[in-house]
Amino acid sequence: MLTLQHIAKAYRVGALPQPVLRDAELTLHAGEFTALVGPSGSGKSTLLNICGLIDRPDSGHIHWQGQDITHHNHAEWTQLRRNAIGFIFQGFNLIPVMTVWDNVAYPLWLTHTPQAEIDDAVAAVLQAVGLTDMARKRPDELSGGQRQRVAIARALVKRPNLIVADEPTASLDQDTALNVIQLLRELARSYGSAVVVATHDDRLLPFCDHLYRMDHGRILPVPNQINHVQTPIEETA
Ligand code: ADP
Ligand code: MG
Repeated sequence: MLTLQHIAKAYRVGALPQPVLRDAELTLHAGEFTALVGPSGSGKSTLLNICGLIDRPDSGHIHWQGQDITHHNHAEWTQLRRNAIGFIFQGFNLIPVMTVWDNVAYPLWLTHTPQAEIDDAVAAVLQAVGLTDMARKRPDELSGGQRQRVAIARALVKRPNLIVADEPTASLDQDTALNVIQLLRELARSYGSAVVVATHDDRLLPFCDHLYRMDHGRILPVPNQINHVQTPIEETA
C-alpha cells in the first residue's frame, strides 16, 4: 500500500537542524497491522505524519500503491489523504459541538460524497463499532472507550486504504484498550486496509502482524518474539 524509502527528516531547533528520521524504511501492506514502538521523542509521530501525507520528508521516496508520489503537489496529496487515509489520534480529536453521527460523517462531507451514500456509510460503520444507539449524542456524553470507537468509525467511514493511529489507546483502561484494538484490527482486515499504529502500549503487540522499533532515526524490525511471549504457557503436570 505504502512504501517509505530512505526517509530523512530534521527539525530546526535554533540554528541547528536536529535529525529525527535518518534513512527510515517502512512498507505497509493491505489488511495488515503494523506497530511502531520506541521511547517518547524517538520520532514515531513524525513518521506517522509522513505515512499519513500530513508532513513531507526532507529526502527519500514515498510510493503509494507502487506509484512514486514523493513530488506530487499539495493538492494531489490532500486529495489522496482525504480519499484514502483515515486518522486516529490519542486525544480522539472529535468535534465537541457535533453529534456522533456528524463527527463520523465529517470526512465524507469533505469529499463531497452524495448524502444518501453518507447516510448508508455512517449507519454501517456505527453499527460495526456498536454505537448505533449513540448516534445523536455528543462526545462529552460518551465514555472514553465510546469516544475512541467514534474516532475509529470516523477513520473507517470512507473505507480507507490506510489507517494511521498515533497512540490510540493511551487514555484507555485495559479492557477498553483491548476491545478497541481488536475492533480496529477486525474492521481493517475486513476492509483490506493497511494499519500503522505508534504505541508504547505493550497490550497492542499481540495484535500486530509486523513490529518495528525506532532506533536513532531508523526503523528496525523486532524479532517475532512477542507472539511467542504471548503464547499461553503450557501447564506443567
Ligand atoms: P514520538 O512521537 O516518538 O514521541 P516525535 O516524532 O513527536 O516523537 O518527536 C521526535 C523528536 O522531534 C522529538 O525530539 C521532538 O521534540 C522533535 N519534534 C517533533 N515535532 C517537532 C516540531 N514541530 N518542531 C521541532 N521539533 C519537533
Ligand atoms: Mg508521538
